[in-house]
Amino acid sequence: MATCLFCRIVAKEVEADIVHESDDVLAFRDIDPVAPTHILVIPKEHIDSARAVRDRHAELAAELFQVAAHLARADGIDRTGWRLVTNIGDDAGQSVHHLHIHLLGGRRLGWPPG
Ligand code: AMP
Repeated sequence: MATCLFCRIVAKEVEADIVHESDDVLAFRDIDPVAPTHILVIPKEHIDSARAVRDRHAELAAELFQVAAHLARADGIDRTGWRLVTNIGDDAGQSVHHLHIHLLGGRRLGWPPG
């Protein structure tokens, strides 16, 4: 999966503003933020999208949510509110086919999303 952009960020072949790293999870600031806090939380393992999550990913999936909660606290948006989004497929606008959860906050977020 050497051509996957996020695999290349995991491999440190492409620079990113990394805010958290563990054995299995990486988080970095989105290059084109749409909110004051816009962080991408990703598994280091290449998984195409949430569509490809399986039972064996249970611990990993839990860690993705725990890291997001930790980073929301670290960015000071824990009390004001934050949103997690993962886009799956074309209609959702998924542009990078490596599972990632957008952590968004720091402003009032509209609903429904566009
Ligand atoms: P999605 O459209 O849900 O697949 O989200 C992909 C996200 O990756 C977008 O919000 C992009 O701005 C972001 N992105 C693309 N390239 C980079 C990069 N090199 N570093 C950080 N974020 C990126």
